[in-house]
Amino acid sequence: MTVKGIAGMLLIFSISGWTNEDKYSDKILDYCNTFRQIQTDIRDCVITPDSAKMAFQAVVRDIRSEFNRDSCQAIDSSYFVYPISDYLPRESIGGRGKGYREKGFDLFDMKVRGSHPAHDLFIHDRDQDNLDDRTWRPIDVLAFTSGVVIAAETNWKYDSELRGGNWIWIYDPCMDALIYYAHNNIVEVQPGQWVNAGDKIAEMGRSGFNAFQKRSPTHLHMMFLQLNSDALPEPVNTYDWLMKSKIKE
Ligand SMILES: [Zn+2]
Repeated sequence: MTVKGIAGMLLIFSISGWTNEDKYSDKILDYCNTFRQIQTDIRDCVITPDSAKMAFQAVVRDIRSEFNRDSCQAIDSSYFVYPISDYLPRESIGGRGKGYREKGFDLFDMKVRGSHPAHDLFIHDRDQDNLDDRTWRPIDVLAFTSGVVIAAETNWKYDSELRGGNWIWIYDPCMDALIYYAHNNIVEVQPGQWVNAGDKIAEMGRSGFNAFQKRSPTHLHMMFLQLNSDALPEPVNTYDWLMKSKIKE
């Protein structure tokens, strides 16, 4: 066998190590519905922050229980894929990473604002038509890490006041984290679906109340929430991981 053939086999082998598809049951769909309902209730202010927090902890524990983390491999920077195809982190991460502000973050209280525990990743789209100015083609949003899609909004309308637009939440069982991708044009995944790091999950867009405004350059908003031992979310600054992540063309 040629060296290339062996390398190919190794590649397939290592990818199969990450395909956890068989490792969770249909119950995941119920948990996905619950997760989404909690987010909707928080957004609509029909649940108190304390109740939202307790409901969130319960559903996170349910989701966790579906995965056997023993099968996780050691994670280093080669695990991450830069979430925009054909772009380099240094040309695309907003403000050289200075856009990340976690102070005051509260996932459970819509009244608390001002934090931005996320990075905005920009593309060349001066005419704001969701197409790359260099290729006139849509730009793929890729999964930064592997995981199961927990919730996805596909129905944002340009006259909506909702801010995230067409968003996606993915749970990565190996990192025990939730990753949120917002402002997509077209979402191409659905709840319960497994995605590997680097898989296409959406096409980039300008959905969301603020992202749709003329003043806002086209970007992907990506937030990484580490889940702590109480099953509560803690934002992580992923700047270094993004800078070292693999580039997919
Ligand atoms: Zn943002």
